[in-house]
Amino acid sequence: MPKFRKKIVAGNWKMNKSTADAQALAEEIKRELAQHSETDVVLCPPFTALKTVGDVIADTSIKLGAQNMHAEPEGAYTGEISANMLRDLYCWYVILGHSERRALFGETDEAVNRKVKAALAATLVPIVCVGETLLERDAGQTRDVVRKQVERSLAGLGSELAKVVIAYEPVWAIGTGRVATPDQAQEVHAFIREVLEAISDRATAQCARIQYGGSMKPANAHDLLTQPDIDGGLVGGASLEARLFVEIVRRAL
Ligand code: PEP
Repeated sequence: MPKFRKKIVAGNWKMNKSTADAQALAEEIKRELAQHSETDVVLCPPFTALKTVGDVIADTSIKLGAQNMHAEPEGAYTGEISANMLRDLYCWYVILGHSERRALFGETDEAVNRKVKAALAATLVPIVCVGETLLERDAGQTRDVVRKQVERSLAGLGSELAKVVIAYEPVWAIGTGRVATPDQAQEVHAFIREVLEAISDRATAQCARIQYGGSMKPANAHDLLTQPDIDGGLVGGASLEARLFVEIVRRAL
């Protein structure tokens, strides 16, 4: 991997952890990783714990991320949170278009694209998730599906595209314990970089970081994270246990 692409490992805590439990988890991670500057580390707790976790990691290089946001800056959108509200809590990152949001909440590529633009306008770094279902993989449609998601979710960003983090998360590997092989993941990551080049230019495609997500654990992290186009991980289940998350980060050099 070229040196200019610093690895990035993010923990997606999903709808887990009370504020007290979130504080304890963040403190444990901070104890182990406060001095770790070789990798960008991001914690994405639920909205309710953003302030608490943000306070714990405030004096470290660990960054705060949210799991979703609304595309509008403010207004009558009951129950929603805007990009500026996340910035107000010192969020640096926001996960957008996670497969659970696409499948359970009907988020389309077009909706994700609006959110990506709103996030960038508020100087948040979007972590944009793409990935095929098992049905799509078995039907030989992986490239087609992923290309469309990348093209549509990241349309019209111009030079801002280089700032976006993309997470390739095969849906069949999320929370299933069934991980993509390093070769399977590398193949799609390299393909995503080709798509990025086609919609922008070579320099932008080489700068953009592409994480792998889907049952990443300490035992498989090294083999995934040493692939040339895998620039980090988006970690779900294993990010809920400090020991596992920290071990994954340590393998991401
Ligand atoms: C995720 O939901 O982003 C994820 C990768 O989950 P898990 O690590 O549990 O498969």
